[in-house]
Amino acid sequence: MIPVSAALDAILALVAPLPGETVALRDVVGRVLAAPATAGRDQPPFDAAQMDGYALRSADLETGRPLRVVGTATAGHGFTGTIQPGEAVRIFTGAPVPGGADRVVMQEETGRQGDVLTVAANAEPGPFIRPRGGDFARGAELPAGRALRPADIALLAAMNVSQVTVHRRPAVAILSTGDELVPPGADPGPDQIVASNGYGLAALVTETGAEARLLPIARDSLDSLDACLRLGEGADLIVTTGGASVGDHDLLARDGTRLGIDLAFYKVAMRPGKPLMAGRLRGTPMLGLPGNPVSALVCGRLFAVPALRRLAGHPPEAAARATAVLGTDLPANGAREHYMRARTGTDGCAYPADSQDSSLLHILAQSDALIVRPPHDPPRHLGETVEIVKI
Ligand code: AMP
Ligand code: MG
Repeated sequence: MIPVSAALDAILALVAPLPGETVALRDVVGRVLAAPATAGRDQPPFDAAQMDGYALRSADLETGRPLRVVGTATAGHGFTGTIQPGEAVRIFTGAPVPGGADRVVMQEETGRQGDVLTVAANAEPGPFIRPRGGDFARGAELPAGRALRPADIALLAAMNVSQVTVHRRPAVAILSTGDELVPPGADPGPDQIVASNGYGLAALVTETGAEARLLPIARDSLDSLDACLRLGEGADLIVTTGGASVGDHDLLARDGTRLGIDLAFYKVAMRPGKPLMAGRLRGTPMLGLPGNPVSALVCGRLFAVPALRRLAGHPPEAAARATAVLGTDLPANGAREHYMRARTGTDGCAYPADSQDSSLLHILAQSDALIVRPPHDPPRHLGETVEIVKI
């Protein structure tokens, strides 16, 4: 058995960021830039009015004499002339400031009769002009490695960048294994159960921004496993569940080499999820998750998601940790790192579920966090701070 951190390191070492592809800006939220994106223009492209009012020469205000309004500048339609001494131009937010003007006075601080404009003596100095390039200049860059958020998309659009190079979206093949399994919607026989792992993992993959492909359920025979695993070839990651324990029918664990699996490790010192394996299947990175539904999803969250994020160009890192206050006492932990299903309350406390049985999906569904207990963690008491992973 290896520690959780060593298992994650080994998994992250199996994958590398996928190559870039050109994608329209509309479709790249959450994706990671594989090449820098460069502004094709200044923003604003001209000195622009910051508010509705009048553009004028500030020197003219020193005399206190009224000004003559000689034209109008609106957003999208500038004033073509140049303001001469004693002149002003009616201007609206976003309009280009006419040549000759060095200040905008807000309309609330002016009075107007016909073409004659007076400006309050105590008008705010402003100048209420957004300088050309004040937001960004032509040539400004969003660097490679940037995970694109809505604000980045808006910035790129303003830069007049309509398509960007982002890391390819990982394709994940998901294989459930077991003679007892039937797909959801089928009519299970008396000894059968409905396969849930594939659906949960596919949802996790989709939520991560990758593409999930559910392979047909493999039976507990070498032929069936081999045939189904081959259907996963071409994926960027193959994720299996079940068949990884020490039972007679756990063929992925027993006959991995015959199936073409080159193991990086097998078994991790954690709860839930001891029978976790990772390696390559004829070159394709592969993650073998336990069959127990809670173990499969918890390990998916802790190991598959970081691998997918790395493939998609994010930095190699473990699931983010946060802290919470324990809402109850906990006994000492054993030798394996424990990820306890828990609910967090609006009081900032984390409440571990009464049962930590790794087959109980309803408890996982009610939980929104995993309390992380290091190996041999001493007893913990109500009110102590613990680390959690949000799920
Ligand atoms: P295994 O690792 O194959 O021994 O499976 C451990 C437990 O998880 C057994 O009770 C299986 O029936 C159950 N199990 C395995 N795969 C799935 C699945 N895809 N959906 C739900 N339960 C499963
Ligand atoms: Mg099985």
